[in-house]
Amino acid sequence: MDLLKNRILQDGKCFEGGILKVDSFINHQMDPILMKAIGEEFARLFADCGVNKIMTIEASGIAPAIMAGYYMNLPVVFAKKKTPKTMENILMTKVRSFTKNREYEVIISKDFLTPDDRVLFIDDFLAYGNAALGILDLIRQAGATLVGMGFIIEKAFQEGRKDLEQTNVRVESLAIVDDLSAGKITLR
Ligand code: 5GP
Repeated sequence: MDLLKNRILQDGKCFEGGILKVDSFINHQMDPILMKAIGEEFARLFADCGVNKIMTIEASGIAPAIMAGYYMNLPVVFAKKKTPKTMENILMTKVRSFTKNREYEVIISKDFLTPDDRVLFIDDFLAYGNAALGILDLIRQAGATLVGMGFIIEKAFQEGRKDLEQTNVRVESLAIVDDLSAGKITLR
């Protein structure tokens, strides 16, 4: 996706510890034209996988997931990082956050993830793969099936893809960062 790659090179910023800041167009301020193109590309890549639900995790996965859901004409559900007091019937897992360096609980209602679901998981970043593996755990607890995972940006040097591919799931990333050292963004 040239539109995305050019934007990363133009507006992305490297931070210590292998963090790429893209908060002027993905993580804080958002570019709907770019997000629309991202949703369209995910829809094209996963068109023939028999997906019936898109799943993501709040907050930054919601925008690309809703755009993909729009193009695929599918419902979108997001896993929550805080449990609402009124919520019953939940599935819970724990995820280690790479950017915040702590563990947090992620939940989803059993009402919206069921054994009938064939799920496409969409998120903003693939780093070490912890968030994605947490989602896979929720999908397994629900008896649902994970058919694919789509990421806007994959940081290949953090090797999350390795663990995900061991689960035999299809992994697609729209831009792959090979290196962020010395303050320079190197895309594949
Ligand atoms: P993982 O669980 O794959 O290690 O990390 C995925 C999550 O951490 C993503 O959902 C994203 O929110 C956050 N993350 C990981 N690396 C980066 C990064 O370089 N930049 C930003 N903005 N978020 C990141």
